[in-house]
Amino acid sequence: MTSILHIEGLTKRYASGHEALSGVDLTIEEGEILALLGPNGAGKTTLISIICGLVMPTGGRVSVGGHDIARDYRKARGMIGLVPQEIALEPFETVWNVVRFSRGVFGKKRNDAHLEDVLRSLSLWEKRDAQIRELSGGMKRRVLIAKALSHEPRVLFLDEPTAGVDVELRRGMWEVVEGLRARGVTIILTTHYIEEAEEIADRVAVISKGQILLVEEKARLMARMGRKELRIELH
Ligand code: ATP
Repeated sequence: MTSILHIEGLTKRYASGHEALSGVDLTIEEGEILALLGPNGAGKTTLISIICGLVMPTGGRVSVGGHDIARDYRKARGMIGLVPQEIALEPFETVWNVVRFSRGVFGKKRNDAHLEDVLRSLSLWEKRDAQIRELSGGMKRRVLIAKALSHEPRVLFLDEPTAGVDVELRRGMWEVVEGLRARGVTIILTTHYIEEAEEIADRVAVISKGQILLVEEKARLMARMGRKELRIELH
């Protein structure tokens, strides 16, 4: 297997003095789905934000597809698709404009066939001319994923894709992730839910107080520790 993302000794101390990450090491293989499981304040968003170049690390290294984010930011960032927690989309824009513009921002040549393919894979093609404000919450989340895939990234980050959504919407999101897996997209998703990690991940990394406590194949982890024990470990 080829690794797509390599994180070494990553630390983050915010200006407040709070150490959000303390020496995180993690390697992600191409094509896998990794669930980053951890309670509130564990450091999940900080980790993703550093990888995406939104937050500056205090120490350590991150490389994506062999490109160091500090030295070769444009190339590294171009390989990443980020689906943030909050739905921040322009209400009066159409779905098609959102994905087309997003691709342009990454300096990629126009490729309508790719955008059509992405929208079809997320059951959004019929909605391409709809304005964002006309869509349901679930559809808006799909638009965020389509936007993140518009520039053909090799790894996709989903930051708590099902936080605060109902069971039906959560199941719908799991199906979307399954579909992306079938297309060979490498996915890292953060979650509070053990059930979510159990349902869709190949490997699970448990993060708490800025440290990775364990990284293990999901099947092995679930066999070794029951859900109950994992729940206790997380709190
Ligand atoms: P959640 O599941 O609630 O989103 P998380 O695992 O994503 O949590 P982070 O948002 O990365 O955790 O936060 C990690 C720690 O760093 C928390 O204690 C948080 O309060 C702190 N933190 C986050 N951003 C900042 C900031 N800009 N300045 C100071 N402290 C921060």
